[in-house]
Amino acid sequence: MSRPIQALINLSALQHNLIQTKAMVGAARVWAVIKANGYGHGLLRVAKALNQADGFAVASVEEAILLRQAGFLHPILLLEGLFDEAELQVVLQHRLDLVVHSHHQVDWLLAHSVKEPLHLWLKLDTGMHRLGFNEEGLHQALFRLKHHAPHFKCHLMSHLACAEDDHPLNQQQYQRLLAANQTYQFKLSLANSAAIQLAPTMHLNWVRPGIMLYGAGIAPQHITHFKPVMSLVSRVIAIKWLAAGEGVGYGQTWFATRPTCLAVVAVGYGDGYPRHAENGTPVIINNLRVPLVGRVSMDMITVDITDHANQIKLNDPVELWGEQLSVDEVAQHANTIGYELLCGITQRVKIKELTQNEV
Ligand SMILES: *Cc1c(COP(=O)(O)O)cnc(C)c1O
Repeated sequence: MSRPIQALINLSALQHNLIQTKAMVGAARVWAVIKANGYGHGLLRVAKALNQADGFAVASVEEAILLRQAGFLHPILLLEGLFDEAELQVVLQHRLDLVVHSHHQVDWLLAHSVKEPLHLWLKLDTGMHRLGFNEEGLHQALFRLKHHAPHFKCHLMSHLACAEDDHPLNQQQYQRLLAANQTYQFKLSLANSAAIQLAPTMHLNWVRPGIMLYGAGIAPQHITHFKPVMSLVSRVIAIKWLAAGEGVGYGQTWFATRPTCLAVVAVGYGDGYPRHAENGTPVIINNLRVPLVGRVSMDMITVDITDHANQIKLNDPVELWGEQLSVDEVAQHANTIGYELLCGITQRVKIKELTQNEV
């Protein structure tokens, strides 16, 4: 038998989550965000399962080309737009939609006499202060585009900085977007997953759900309607007893305070399990919730199974995150977010799609 670490992907959960998202946003259209290899789940397999989305949003032309080559005809939005002038040819060839966040991108667009009715999502910086025009810059950019390329189809978007919290900036950003659009009446897009869950007013014309499609980042009031898509699983590869006072692992950062039964599990930071997972991070072995102890190594972790020593044996199944333990909870114990764990699954982890019988 080979090394037992696997990422199980439940594509019917992904489809379910899209249906739930659509039900939440009503008439708003959905850009399914599938950047970063579909948040670690695999770009093409995720796109196939999310076929009913109105469009796909990615971060690079490479991802967009893969989608086109696989035959997807959906609108595809490049979330950061052009990284250089040369990408414009690829964008035209593959009929991609662009975010436009800066004057230099407008320069690139106008330097070529583009005949196609490109769809542009002008990005307004409403307070995130990452990408986007300020209001004055937006009006200038739109003025230039209207005069030199009146056949381009312009829309307006922004991105919330604090959608996961009940933060006053959310409402300010929303109002700034609406105010900037008063003279234009463009189609609007603002909401990522957290904003979708925050308030229906945020949905506007197009929503941009990412993490919620994968069943993570769900607020408590919506949690029952979504299903986790990825389960990271492995097996117990050794069990041993320690005497009170004995230490565990690199740096001996954890000591047994009683006779302790330890399970060694084949997963480590070399697989994308977070090295900073603290003592007490939950792990599911044989459907039992047990605490990680000692440092995470590259290929292994150690788990205190003393309280269930008679119920756990060699080769028993382990879930690091998935249906019984949310990736968000694990992330909290590692001082990070579920996004990073999902995207961070490494090459050596075999991905297995669950069939209908297995889900
Ligand atoms: C990644 C991304 C999203 C999706 O965010 P989630 O929090 O995963 O829903 C939406 N909009 C933009 C601009 C993004 O970069």
